[in-house]
Amino acid sequence: MRVLILSTTTGYQLRSFGDAAVRAGIDLMFATDCCHQLDDPWRDGAVAVRFHEEDASLRAIVDAARVRPLDGVIAVGDRPVVLAARVAEALGVRGNTPAAAAASVNKSVARSRLAGAGLPVPWFFEADPAADISADPRLQFPCVVKPLGLSGSRGVIRANDPAELDAARRRLRALLSRPDVRAIRSGLGDTILVEGFIEGREFAIEGVMTDGALRILAVFDKPDPLDGPFFEETIYVTPTDRGPGEQQAVIEHIGRGAAALGLANGPVHAECRVGPGGIFILEIAARPIGGLCSRVLRFTAHGESGDVSLEEVLLRHAVGEDLSRYERESRSAGVMMIPIPKRGTLKRVTGLDAATAVTGVDDVRITAKTDQLLEPLPEGASYLGFIFARGAGSKEVLGALKEAHDQLHFEIAAPIALATR
Ligand code: ADP
Repeated sequence: MRVLILSTTTGYQLRSFGDAAVRAGIDLMFATDCCHQLDDPWRDGAVAVRFHEEDASLRAIVDAARVRPLDGVIAVGDRPVVLAARVAEALGVRGNTPAAAAASVNKSVARSRLAGAGLPVPWFFEADPAADISADPRLQFPCVVKPLGLSGSRGVIRANDPAELDAARRRLRALLSRPDVRAIRSGLGDTILVEGFIEGREFAIEGVMTDGALRILAVFDKPDPLDGPFFEETIYVTPTDRGPGEQQAVIEHIGRGAAALGLANGPVHAECRVGPGGIFILEIAARPIGGLCSRVLRFTAHGESGDVSLEEVLLRHAVGEDLSRYERESRSAGVMMIPIPKRGTLKRVTGLDAATAVTGVDDVRITAKTDQLLEPLPEGASYLGFIFARGAGSKEVLGALKEAHDQLHFEIAAPIALATR
């Protein structure tokens, strides 16, 4: 059995897929648009693709699959989701339709589909960040603006009045014209989405779709209040401490939302807000939880001992295995994505040993490199690192994550001022 992993990065999650593939006895083929950075992790030649040149990329993969047949495909990250769907369709393996994949990665199309299915959505409209929208009759406050095609809360800004909205759209205009952002070439270009701010607590849901049926792998609480102006993901803890009724209602909405987008097969990572106005789906992405975060999830196979990673579960699903024997471990687990507190150059990290020694903490990974230029949200696209904790309940896990974070100190030097003309 062989699975194609489509990815824009060569990071941690690919190593996890590599390890999982060895355990599961599955071969991997890898396709990326950053081959020049690639250290050929499986020494068998990755397929070079360009996510914005889908037809040529599809041909390259189908050609490669003639020599090394593929039994499944997984997209890692948002950018490869549509190409992964086209590959699945061309090869007749488990996947989503390209139309469903495309709907899931466009925040505006996704909103329309959800609304069309009768699910709650905030008011929303598309706008050009170069245009003054303060007189638009559809506008109400507070609102949220975001680029249509970015992810990881990048460029997501709350505005409480016309002045804040004006500042936010200018900031997005600058962000969208940056070379590193233009290089993503999502095809969704310079458009932004303006929508109502949704009050409420936030949940993240990790699941897998099989022929339109959603199997939940984990429901996470995002216990920190996320009221803006920017929206760092920070903490995920599972299982949620909300009652079964609320959980069931959230799961039911995600299932209906996935159906509205047309997602039917493969991993889904969804985010929603539950508050006075009901259950609002923020997004349903046709990919697994990103980066190192997936390590927060461990599974056991019924009747077997030992942990199984999310990546192994997903590889097995991709080749057609039934997942009913896999359950998430019984302990509570959480991850903190350590936010970047300010712009500058990372000089030193102290307190790592003390943070790692906190009861319940499994691991502390600092992923930012010394002398790296750090950029916080809304422009930035990375974290300082990750803290993982496990415990008897979500309270212990949350306490451990916060205590470990308190132990860490990041010395960040002010960025060198650029000469202005
Ligand atoms: P991304 O795909 O970049 O993660 P999302 O649209 O999912 O973008 O938004 C990221 C985060 O921003 C959400 O998890 C949520 O905390 C916050 N957010 C986004 N839109 C809204 C909204 N309309 N109301 C309240 N919070 C929002």
